[in-house]
Amino acid sequence: MTDAFLAFAAAHTPGIAIVDACARHASKLGIDKLSADTGIPPLEIRAHLEAHKQLSPHRELAATLGIPLDTLLLVSTWSKRVLPDDIPVLLRAVENTTYTEAEDHLRAATRELNRGKNRTRPRGSVAVAKRPDYWGRRRVSFYLTDAEHADMKANAGAYIAAAREKDPTLSYGQALHMWLLRQLTTPVSEARKTYKPVLLMPVDSSLTWERGYLVTADGVRVDPVELLKAQLDDTGWALQTALDATGTAQAITVARIQNTRFSTGEHRMIAALDTLVCSWPGCHHIAMDCQAHHIHPAAQGGETSWENLAPLCKKHNGMNDDLRTVRNGRIIRGNGGYPGHQRRPGDPVRYSANDLLTAGWRGLTYDAYARAST
Ligand SMILES: [Zn+2]
Repeated sequence: MTDAFLAFAAAHTPGIAIVDACARHASKLGIDKLSADTGIPPLEIRAHLEAHKQLSPHRELAATLGIPLDTLLLVSTWSKRVLPDDIPVLLRAVENTTYTEAEDHLRAATRELNRGKNRTRPRGSVAVAKRPDYWGRRRVSFYLTDAEHADMKANAGAYIAAAREKDPTLSYGQALHMWLLRQLTTPVSEARKTYKPVLLMPVDSSLTWERGYLVTADGVRVDPVELLKAQLDDTGWALQTALDATGTAQAITVARIQNTRFSTGEHRMIAALDTLVCSWPGCHHIAMDCQAHHIHPAAQGGETSWENLAPLCKKHNGMNDDLRTVRNGRIIRGNGGYPGHQRRPGDPVRYSANDLLTAGWRGLTYDAYARAST
């Protein structure tokens, strides 16, 4: 009988050594015999051989970085989307990451490497299973962008809440299924899509808000409230942002155009629109579904201001350490004011690799200033 823990520990030796050894055995015995001898399914052995083929030219780097087997197999899959010369970048991207974070880092690195190479997102397409299952159902799958997903959740929200109140045994997914089915099988009414925009106004520091006017350096006065009322009543928010003396983006003023779903508070809304996604690295909950986490705990005098709030999903809000314990790490504001995760005091801050992190007002403000200064 083999020791299960030793086998587990062996899987933590650098993955490249394991796939190399697997390739040696497979060339001697053949895949079927190796599978029969080891009990490892042929499909898994083929994944090892593929990783050997893709990554063995970078064997030394993979060994030095100590990338474990499961993460290495992930790198092997992503390595087909970049040029062979760029594979070391992917290997370095997953150094010291957990398996769950690795895919985020690989996605970000791959996108960065392919920037400007005219790689467009594939056209949307719905896959329908060729055969029905035992129950006579066919599996249908397709992709939604984060924005489309958010729209769907918002549209389905009231229906799902009502359905689950009527039948508390329904899971969210089951209620969503009922809603989707209803949407797909009832005739479409020509409903017009509406947006609730936030007007983002990154301004020069020579601009000041005085008595409700936006005053420019050359003496032009603009009354944003009047302007917004006339043109955009009932639509959203106006958010003025600027860099402070240290070059960090700040939200200066927010004007309400309408009560939105962020109506629990302006500061909470500003925090949600800052990162658009849960601040915990590796998490993809959109900020709309997150809780407003107090970076400095409210119980210890932390203010409910946008600067002290960061979106965290329920799970990660629960995991975040308070100021006294060091267990899971906590969210702090790091580089550029972005909220990120710090394992223990003094450690480097790690950020969400989700694109949304830099797509909120903070990222847009930096983009606007960068464009203005070039
Ligand atoms: Zn989260």
